[in-house]
Amino acid sequence: MAQKGVLTVISGFSGAGKGTVVKRLLEKYDYGLSISATTRSPRAGEQDGREYFFKSTEEFEQMIKEHQLIEYAQYVGNYYGTPKEYVVQQLEQGKDVILEIEMQGALHVRDIIPEVNLIFLTPPTVEELENRLRSRGTETEEVIKERMDRAKEECRYMEQYDYIVVNDDLETCVQNVHELIQALHYKKEQQEGFIRKIVQEFEKR
Ligand code: 5GP
Repeated sequence: MAQKGVLTVISGFSGAGKGTVVKRLLEKYDYGLSISATTRSPRAGEQDGREYFFKSTEEFEQMIKEHQLIEYAQYVGNYYGTPKEYVVQQLEQGKDVILEIEMQGALHVRDIIPEVNLIFLTPPTVEELENRLRSRGTETEEVIKERMDRAKEECRYMEQYDYIVVNDDLETCVQNVHELIQALHYKKEQQEGFIRKIVQEFEKR
């Protein structure tokens, strides 16, 4: 039997570079990425089943009722959630799965899948976070202030994560996150099948 895959949630402040880190992880290594369901309309170029599973509000609420989601949250008037079946299937097949979701939902994943690993990505300093938001060149001062205020709120939840990884140099950060996830294969929660097998072997003697 293949060892179960490791489930990791990556979240962090807006501007921490989590989208870029996750994209690099998927390019360099063989991770599975969960595809979320949402009630927001597709943007130009987005495809159902690729970026998201696009659902009506009724369909989404039905998924909630039928416990088909690992977690869900409302964000700017729309529902976003992680379908359970696909994630569980990939983990059973031994694939490591990454969820990139905002903090509110992230902290709920543990209620459904206790062995999940929560990684929080952060820039090295608050000043650097502000610089990064500003250097995107696409946000107004008002949006930058809003995101900084939100980050100030969110930093109170860092303590609830298992691992804090600083994203200073991108490639170093990607390497660190990858090595961290690989090391998680040795946790006893990941080795339950193996432990059972060894115990059974001894029982047969
Ligand atoms: P967007 O509409 O820009 O694609 O996403 C808006 C926000 O929803 C982002 O912060 C994104 O990380 C978050 N998000 C995407 N999928 C999920 C999900 O399955 N669950 C939760 N809780 N948040 C999600």
